[in-house]
Amino acid sequence: MEIYGLRTHYVTTMEYRVECIKCGRRFPAHEIIYTCDKCNGLLDIKYDYSGIDNERIVKAKGRGVWKYKALLPFKEGTSLSPITINEGDTPLYRCDRLAQSIGMGIGDLWVKHEGLNPSGSFKDRGMTVGVTKAMELHVNGVACASTGNTSASLAIFAAKAGIPCYVLLPKGKVALGKVAQAMMHGAKVLSLLGNFDDALRVVRELCEEENLYLLNSVNPYRLEGQKTIAFEIAEQLNWDIPDRVILPVGNAGNISAIYKGFLELEKLGITSSVPMMTGIQAEGAQPVVRAFKDARTEIIPEPEPETIASAIRIGNPVNATKALLAIRNSGGLAESVSDTEITESQLLLARAEGIGVEPASAASIAGLRKLYDAGEIDRGEKIVCITTGHLLKDPERAIAICEAPQEVMADLESVRHVLHATINNKNKE
Ligand SMILES: *Cc1c(COP(=O)(O)O)cnc(C)c1O
Ligand SMILES: [Zn+2]
Repeated sequence: MEIYGLRTHYVTTMEYRVECIKCGRRFPAHEIIYTCDKCNGLLDIKYDYSGIDNERIVKAKGRGVWKYKALLPFKEGTSLSPITINEGDTPLYRCDRLAQSIGMGIGDLWVKHEGLNPSGSFKDRGMTVGVTKAMELHVNGVACASTGNTSASLAIFAAKAGIPCYVLLPKGKVALGKVAQAMMHGAKVLSLLGNFDDALRVVRELCEEENLYLLNSVNPYRLEGQKTIAFEIAEQLNWDIPDRVILPVGNAGNISAIYKGFLELEKLGITSSVPMMTGIQAEGAQPVVRAFKDARTEIIPEPEPETIASAIRIGNPVNATKALLAIRNSGGLAESVSDTEITESQLLLARAEGIGVEPASAASIAGLRKLYDAGEIDRGEKIVCITTGHLLKDPERAIAICEAPQEVMADLESVRHVLHATINNKNKE
């Protein structure tokens, strides 16, 4: 049994190895490495799937990320103390009102609200695995560059593990709630005079020098935790895979991770298809979309990414190669949306479905609407949109786009007057 706050000891049975996706070079599991030292390619964790019994996935007990420990990268025979705060196990909402407003059929649209993870974003799924790995590797601490949510999540898991945490944030570019979390949970927060891409470049070198474990999404172990989003979607739909999954793309780790999760279910024979992975970027930060549309396998970095969706304000996404493979191999799409479209969708989702998300997350809905209107999405497709972060991450943006509270005298007459004026206005609309 799992009890919140207590460490549970697990023994897993999967064999795994670390491998370069470009040249196939293999690395020992205990080596601290993030990209291939030969060709600079991204690394991936590979498993021997013959050693896994499907029942262990389909009938797994427990909740959240560690429920799927049979498909997580921890060696056979080792006892394991996961650093966990009950991440994952997020709701999958059926969204009929939203579907109707887009013109989609009833029962065709679902939203998986990753904003309901403990820190308020899906990053927790990656961090529970990543920080558990950091403990196994005996590092001096953990570090990351972040547009906000990575730092908030890492600070929490480092606190839980009792190890030092250093985060580099681009100055003035991080939403209020996220900075508050990183500070509150005791991370050393550095405000870097540069953008996210600069912060990542610096922190990678710092980690090597100081024996800190880098927990940006270039770290392949983090993505292993995030692939459990796919397992949960499949299970929540009774192992009936949706036709399409749509999500925002920043550093492009999450779309790669979720694709991998669906691929594993198919490899194991648990499911028989993989959804069309559909990535959405903001118009002002869309290197993956441009590469997809130009049929290139590599991105051209954008030096000055700009969008109100700060979580995806990234000009040089580290996992772009993996993401482009995921999109193409699954027959998916990549599209960009404007800040105005993001804002409209953020409001629509909040008011039609009661789902409060930060701007980046609303990009998935904005992308769905745009692709659906353009006829790029077939009628009748079953679609899951992933909303990556909670509304309260960016309260300043919410206040900026909504009508301000109306001041009123403290008597019934005045309040009634305002109420009736509001009702009259609504009727006129
Ligand atoms: C991190 C993040 C993203 C982007 O995810 P990537 O894996 O970097 O593509 C999108 N939305 C939110 C809320 C995030 O925190
Ligand atoms: Zn290589």
